[in-house]
Amino acid sequence: MNKSNANKWGERTKAIHAGEFIDPASRASSPNLVMSSTFCPDQVAGFSAHNRSDYQGHIYARVSNPTIKQLGTKLAAMEGAEAAQCYASGMAASHALLAGRLNAGDHLIISDTNYVGTAELVRDSLPRWGIKVTPVDTSDLDLVASVIEPSTKMIWLETPANPIMRLSDIEAIVKLARDKNVRDVVVDSTFATPAATKPLTLGADFVVHSLTKYIGGHGDAMGGAVIGRKQDLDALNLEATVHYGGVLSPFNAWLIMRGAATFPLRMQAHEATAMRVAKFLEQHKKIKSVYYPGLVSHPQHDLAKRQMKNFSGMLSFRTCETGESVASRMIQKFQLIHYAVSLGHHRSLIYWIPTQMLMNSTYRLSHDAEQRYRRFAGDGLFRFSVGIENPEDLCAELDAVL
Ligand SMILES: *Cc1c(COP(=O)(O)O)cnc(C)c1O
Repeated sequence: MNKSNANKWGERTKAIHAGEFIDPASRASSPNLVMSSTFCPDQVAGFSAHNRSDYQGHIYARVSNPTIKQLGTKLAAMEGAEAAQCYASGMAASHALLAGRLNAGDHLIISDTNYVGTAELVRDSLPRWGIKVTPVDTSDLDLVASVIEPSTKMIWLETPANPIMRLSDIEAIVKLARDKNVRDVVVDSTFATPAATKPLTLGADFVVHSLTKYIGGHGDAMGGAVIGRKQDLDALNLEATVHYGGVLSPFNAWLIMRGAATFPLRMQAHEATAMRVAKFLEQHKKIKSVYYPGLVSHPQHDLAKRQMKNFSGMLSFRTCETGESVASRMIQKFQLIHYAVSLGHHRSLIYWIPTQMLMNSTYRLSHDAEQRYRRFAGDGLFRFSVGIENPEDLCAELDAVL
């Protein structure tokens, strides 16, 4: 089947058909799950990733595998990109990109509020490798401009940022980076998803996803991806994929591909459900504040409208009562909403994130930056990944514990 016009298809068509084809041997309609770790070349071929001669087929699954390749093609189409590389987890993808692109002596600027795994990796590991790291509030353009140095090679955004749902203006940061000769702008778009934002079309150089979240969507497979230009990914792959070795399991690629097929429809449902829940919480007398980019009350709602075509299913809220006691009632009483970490699943997930604990363990923000964080989070907030259940059932369950 000729799929050369995949980039002209609509989003739902891409999510289903991009990267997939009818298997010529079996005529199977669904993608083949190829678990083989090694492949039998039909001609004499190289044995090192450095020297593959001109053999184009698969040799070893750490280098390439047909099922994973299909998922990569689908993800690239979904982001409007040339290429995508899959990894064993979102963290494996982030590590591959950071370690593969940055050298000792380089400087990284990164959102000071972001996914805790990323925050801990850049604070605890990169400095050991001689990479200087400056965490900063990337929603403030002047602040970002003020910390750019001649050695700044990468600006890493996460928007909306975990767990406070603070946005960063991708287009404005890209413009700043270009003006100041910063080589890479990376966007961790896990919370926004390609249904909301396509950072590469806004000028970013790389997009990172945890496929464990919305794209897989069902809470049963970990995976990650780096998406960008073919030339950049080819340059990255030998070291960051083949030699670091954090490759995705073909089985997980197959599960994530199945999840990805319904991704655009699920995102419509996530947005609609989250909007209903956010409005319910906003008027609830036991709730202090709600942060959802789709609410007019979100401090960056205008940017959200400009940058997000879908407001996604992530929100956070503060309760009037101390969060810890509310959290323990949730653990005891909830039947539908799971009190659990992670996000982007069809089922709803909620977790209490106390500010001081997060500051001590992970963000370690200085006075000013901590004040910026507390402006959203106060002493702590609930991160709520709103699933695609009926909103009235979720609201009833919340009401019973608040
Ligand atoms: C979960 C997550 C990651 C890490 O992904 P894993 O698949 O858990 O390794 C990175 N960034 C964001 C924003 C995430 O939510």
